[in-house]
Amino acid sequence: MSETKYIFVTGGVTSSLGKGIVAASLAKLLQSQKFRVTIQKFDPYINVDPGTLNPYEHGECYVTDDGAETDLDLGHYERFLNVKTSQANNVTTGRVYQSVIEKERRGVFLGKTVQVVPHITNEIKERILLLGKTGEYDIIITEIGGTVGDIESLPYIEAVRQLIYERGDKNAMTIHLTLIPFLSAAGELKTKPTQHSVKTLMESGIKADVLVCRTEHELSNELRKKLALFCNVKYEAVIQSIDVETIYDVPLKMQDEGLDRVVIDRLKLKPKQSSDLKKWKEFLKKYKNPKSKIKIGLVGKYVELQDSYKSILESFIHAGAINEVEVDVITIHSEFILEKGNIDKLMDLDGILVAPGFGERGIEGKIKAVEFVRKNKIPFFGICLGMQMAVIEYSRNVLGLKDANSTEMTDKTSNPVIDLMEDQKNIKNKGGTMRLGSWECSLSKGSLVNRIYDKSLINERHRHRYEFNDKYNDIMFSKNLKASGVNPLTGLIEIIEHNDHPWFIGVQFHPEYKSTVSEPHPLFVSFVEAALKYSKSKK
Ligand code: GLN
Repeated sequence: MSETKYIFVTGGVTSSLGKGIVAASLAKLLQSQKFRVTIQKFDPYINVDPGTLNPYEHGECYVTDDGAETDLDLGHYERFLNVKTSQANNVTTGRVYQSVIEKERRGVFLGKTVQVVPHITNEIKERILLLGKTGEYDIIITEIGGTVGDIESLPYIEAVRQLIYERGDKNAMTIHLTLIPFLSAAGELKTKPTQHSVKTLMESGIKADVLVCRTEHELSNELRKKLALFCNVKYEAVIQSIDVETIYDVPLKMQDEGLDRVVIDRLKLKPKQSSDLKKWKEFLKKYKNPKSKIKIGLVGKYVELQDSYKSILESFIHAGAINEVEVDVITIHSEFILEKGNIDKLMDLDGILVAPGFGERGIEGKIKAVEFVRKNKIPFFGICLGMQMAVIEYSRNVLGLKDANSTEMTDKTSNPVIDLMEDQKNIKNKGGTMRLGSWECSLSKGSLVNRIYDKSLINERHRHRYEFNDKYNDIMFSKNLKASGVNPLTGLIEIIEHNDHPWFIGVQFHPEYKSTVSEPHPLFVSFVEAALKYSKSKK
């Protein structure tokens, strides 16, 4: 068996250049030539994982099947490649240090002084090599978070330098993603920041093999030559990454620029077939040529930052494309709904999704939105907290349990229809202690979800602490509300739906984590279909 090859992606000049998308696009191109590829991300912050971070910090927390709370870039990897990721695909400085410190306490280092070099760098190297050791992959792409020159990235850069030295040039290489700013006053693209960031990388002993240049304007041949000469890369290894309409264009743009060819040559790889992106192109064609348009309201409390709901927005892109519908997602702040006269504005929408979330702020607005769509028979999709809000709304307004609530919001309610399970009650630590990862759910025969999934047993990913309180099973499901999905192990209610509504589904899990370009999630596909039907019925 040939050796696993390693590609390291670093960033220069500024953050937010889209390293994750470039890494995922390269992986897609390599996968289309039958290489087995995975991507991992190293984040230089001290949190052990992003689970404890507010979405305003780094956007949504993405959850994998094995229950790892990870960076949202892992979502891009899964959506592009349709290959599952796990905890091994996302490591933070906090996790690295935690592991080294635990080893020190166990006496693993035999009396040595524990230092950044070699102990931290060795731990990083081990974790980089972990996925390669499984024998499941030909190529591992490792994205180093942050920007070259940051103090906190230094141990990673040093670990990469050592690995390139140890694995040899044929087995490891670097791609440096950089910005070519345009100075409008001078009417010119500027290469100097890139020259400097390549130099900074050199100071740490790493030579950039490929430059991927983010730019708003085409790079001329002259400019490419200049970059090649001053940054010491081959001319063909200067890759332009110009702004595009959608992130899903990036693999094709990277192919036009020859990024995969440069990598294949550099690592002496032998493709098993020429690139086949037929399905990808079909998806893009449908996405860019919709036959109709719908408006979906996304009700949440982190709406100021689009990245907070990244996977939901991407799931709508996948589901819209397959239905040949443009899904215009209108974000609505849950607190806005309570302001006078605003609720009626929801009438314009063809469907409403009440988003996941934590804490009390904005929940009354969410409950009001659910009441509105239930009464007006507008398609409704509640995810996690959204499902819990649907249960509370029904309890208050249909069952007459006026103070029904979740104990996450108040412990004063006499009707805790959403509550903590016994095994959650004694948990003190916040990090990594929710119900996380993939759980089975059996769907009741003949239910709407059963028809949508066309299966009776499904697996979906969870990330929550509170649950539907089963003490309310009898009263809750005595009328029009149905428990259509149940966890076969624990009996917990995972899905609710309404019998007298065309499309009203609340799920305790997060379907958005599993939607990919090649496999759009059935619930999103069906929700978009229902919204389209509803939109046509209004005309
Ligand atoms: N805050 C709720 C809980 O912990 C819902 C979480 C979510 O929406 N992901 O149960």
